[in-house]
Amino acid sequence: MTLPEHDLVVVGAGFAGLYTTIHAERRGLRVLGLEAGSEVGGTWYWNRYPGARCDVESIDYSYSFDDELQREWRWSERYATQPEILRYLNHVADRFDARRHYRFDERVASADWDERSHLWKVRTESGFTTTARWLVMATGCLSRPILPDIPGRDSFTGEVLQTSAWPDGQIDFTGRRVAVIGTGSSGVQAIPIIADTASEVTVYQRSANYSVPAFNRVLDDEEWLRQQEDLTHRRELSWNGAAGSPWTSHPVPYAEASDAEREEVFEESWTRGGVLFAKAFQGLTVDHEINEAARTFFERKLAERVNDPQVRADLTPTDHAVGTKRICTDTHYYETFNLPHVELVNLRRDPIVEVTGSGIRTESGLREHDVIVYATGFDAMTGALTAIDIRGRDGRSIREEWRGFPQTYLGVALPGFPNLLVLNGPGTPSVLSNMALTSEQQGAYALRLIDHCSAEQLTSAEARQDAAEAWTQHGLDLADATLFGDAPSWYTGANIEGKARGFLPYIGGFRAYIDRADAVAEEGYRGFVLSRA
Ligand code: NAP
Repeated sequence: MTLPEHDLVVVGAGFAGLYTTIHAERRGLRVLGLEAGSEVGGTWYWNRYPGARCDVESIDYSYSFDDELQREWRWSERYATQPEILRYLNHVADRFDARRHYRFDERVASADWDERSHLWKVRTESGFTTTARWLVMATGCLSRPILPDIPGRDSFTGEVLQTSAWPDGQIDFTGRRVAVIGTGSSGVQAIPIIADTASEVTVYQRSANYSVPAFNRVLDDEEWLRQQEDLTHRRELSWNGAAGSPWTSHPVPYAEASDAEREEVFEESWTRGGVLFAKAFQGLTVDHEINEAARTFFERKLAERVNDPQVRADLTPTDHAVGTKRICTDTHYYETFNLPHVELVNLRRDPIVEVTGSGIRTESGLREHDVIVYATGFDAMTGALTAIDIRGRDGRSIREEWRGFPQTYLGVALPGFPNLLVLNGPGTPSVLSNMALTSEQQGAYALRLIDHCSAEQLTSAEARQDAAEAWTQHGLDLADATLFGDAPSWYTGANIEGKARGFLPYIGGFRAYIDRADAVAEEGYRGFVLSRA
C-alpha cells in the first residue's frame, strides 16, 4: 500500500486550522499545515483595516479547549480589535508550538484524489507537492474577497485599498479625499476611523444595512474577574446555545409581552450591542410582526443619530428584514454622516458610471478622490474552495459541481470527494454562530472521523449522495421557514452575480447541529461509505 507523506494536510491557519493542527499532533498524527498568509491568523491576518474588530465578545470569541489558555489571556476590551485577536492567535500558536507544522506563503492550487491509494495529492502555487490520507479544508467562510466589476476600475491613479487585503501598518489619511465603496460590516467599521483624519470622505452605498452600536468598553479588572468567575457557566451556555454565545432571547414571547415590556426588551437588547439586537425576542427573524416592531425601534434610534432627514432616509434599510443580513456592529457610524466633510452617495438614486483616473463618476457627476477603499465583501462560504482545483473520484470537480447549490453532508463531507473534510463549510452553523467554538467543534469532528477510520483500519470515508441531498434539503427547508431567504445577502449567494442561490449556513442552531452530527458518528457514521484501499 502506498503510504502518504502525511496523515492529514490542513489548509488554513485561522481558528479552525490551528485547532485542528494542534489536536492532530496531540493524537500522534503526522500533520502538515499549508497557509497562504505569512503567519497564522486567517481572517484576522488579512482584514487589517482601521476599526476592524470582532462583533462577538472577546471572552466568548476565544478557544475553550484549554482552561489555562482561556484564563491566562487577558482581553483588554469587550470587543477585541483585529491586532489583539491576531496577537491572541499568535500566542496560541506559540503556546502549542503549532507553527512548526505549517508551511506559510503556500496557497493551495490543486488537490487530486487517487482512488487506488486512497490519498490526496496536494499542490501549491509555488510548486510544492505532498500527499496525505486526509485533506482538511479550514479555508474560512469569508476569505475570498471580491472586487466590483466597475468600468475603468483599474484606471484610477490614486491609492487603491481593499479592507480584506489591507497592507500591514497604518495608512495615513490625513488631508486626503477618500472614497469608500461598500457599507457592510467592514465599511461600517472603517468609515468613522477614516473620517477622523481624512479631509473628505465619500461613502458610496448601494444598500443600507442595519447597524447597532457595539457599546464597546475597556474590560476593567472588576468586569474581567466577574467574567472569569462565571466562565465555566458561560461556556456551558454557549456550547448549548443556538449561536455559540451565552445570550438568549427574552423568555416571554413577543405576543404575550405588554407594549411597555416590548419597549424595555428592545432597549435592553439594543444596549447589549450589535448583532445581539436580533435576539431581542424569539422569532424576530421568522415573524413579520416582531420584525416590524424591531424595524420601528431601529428607525427611532436612527433618527436620534442622524441629523439630516434625506441622509437618514438614505441610511434606512429598505430591502431586508432586521437581522436577515448580518447586523453591523458600529462605533459612531451613523454619527459620522453628521460631519461636514462626510458625504453619502445613494447608488440606488445615483449609480456609479465609471472609475476614472482621478475619481468616481456617478450619474450626477465626477467626484475626485486621492484614495479608493473597496469594502465590497466576499464570495462567501464556497469561494475559498472553488478557487482551488479540487478533483475527487473520477475527476469530479468542486468548482464545476458548485456551479449549482453546494450539496454537503453535515457541511463537512461531499459525495464524490472521499477524505475531504471541510470545516465550517456550507451546511454548518459557522457564520450564524460564534466561529471560535464552531471551529473547535468542526476540527474535533473531523479528527473523530479520522480516529474512527484508523481504529477500524479504514482508509476512506465519503458522504453518500442521498445523505448529502437530505442534509442540504433539511437546511434549505429550515431557512425557508424564516425571513432570511428573502434578503439579498451573501448568506444566499445574492452578492455574486450568477452564483447559485440558496441559504448556505445551517440555520437550525449550533447545539441542534452538534447533536445531529454526534448522532451520525455514534451510529457508525450513518450516511457515509467507509472503505479500505
Ligand atoms: P459585505 O457585508 O458583503 O458588504 C459588502 C458591501 O459592498 C455591501 O454594502 C455591498 O452592497 C457593497 N458592494 C458590493 N459590490 C458593490 C458594487 N459593485 N457597487 C457598490 N457597492 C457594492 O462585506 P463585509 O462588509 O466585508 O462583511 C462581510 C461579513 O464579514 C459580515 O457580514 C460579517 O459576517 C463579517 N465581518 C464581521 C465583522 C465584525 O465582526 N464586526 C467585520 C467585518 C466583516 P450590497 O449590500 O448592495 O450588495
